[in-house]
Amino acid sequence: MSDRLLKFTFHNAPVRGEVVRMEGAWQAMTEHHGYPAPVMRLLGEMTAAAALLASNIKFAGSLVIQIHGDGPVRLLVVECQPDLRLRATAKLDADFTIDAGAGLRELVNVSGQGRCAITLDPSDRLPGQQPYQGIVSLHGDSIAQALENYMRQSEQLESRLWLAADDRFCAGVLLQKLPDAGDRAALANTDVDAWERTTALAATLTVDELLELPADTVTRRLFWQERLDHYRPQVPRFECRCSRGRIGRMLLSLGRAEVDSIITEQGRVQVTCDFCNARQEFDAIDVAQLFRTGSAGDVAATAQH
Ligand SMILES: [Zn+2]
Repeated sequence: MSDRLLKFTFHNAPVRGEVVRMEGAWQAMTEHHGYPAPVMRLLGEMTAAAALLASNIKFAGSLVIQIHGDGPVRLLVVECQPDLRLRATAKLDADFTIDAGAGLRELVNVSGQGRCAITLDPSDRLPGQQPYQGIVSLHGDSIAQALENYMRQSEQLESRLWLAADDRFCAGVLLQKLPDAGDRAALANTDVDAWERTTALAATLTVDELLELPADTVTRRLFWQERLDHYRPQVPRFECRCSRGRIGRMLLSLGRAEVDSIITEQGRVQVTCDFCNARQEFDAIDVAQLFRTGSAGDVAATAQH
């Protein structure tokens, strides 16, 4: 499988770049969901973007991109960890049908109420401490444009994104203009046209090329005349963070009376993970034990499809 994220800077030029392409990770993330093609495209673009942003900001915690839609797609969520473990999910409104050619507007911004939130949730967050969240409007025609605006506002660095996804691959390119070095000597050496030139080169890439070609081929094709300083490549992969222990904590927070009423009504509590479809069941004995010990054990969820 060709899951890979490449990161590089342009030698002597204040531009940083990343190229990502996921195949196995993307297919594993979506295989049990059966999303329509336009939803796959949007969610895949968000997934590629989450990997690019997480790698770009080097933040010790989860980066979460969420779109709250006002059309056929109610919610899209992608979570990425600093080591590029990713998971993603979409919630659709069954009352709508989705046209094969539906884009961002038709899927999530029908009456202009769609919102995109980017959350940085530190892994060492203290109880009561709020994660940092930025909200971006969905004006514009693509996820890439919405996220370019976000990066411009939050990092004050000019950034360009190119994203693509289908049912097999999701992929993207990020270029970011770095602050110029302050002193004259450094400026004299700086390649002043680098930003215009590198973004013009990246813009020549077609969606098909982005999807079909491995990340290193894309990088070489676009920038073969440039001198690049490469970072160590990263491997994005799918991993869900759900577990029986987490669901147990959720049930504890609901309270005994609420959980008991579900047991009385349905004979058991059944929780299916939105991300990986793994199912956890708690019967009356499990629930009694959970509330006695205050823990369901932190065993990872086993997928039961
Ligand atoms: Zn899960």
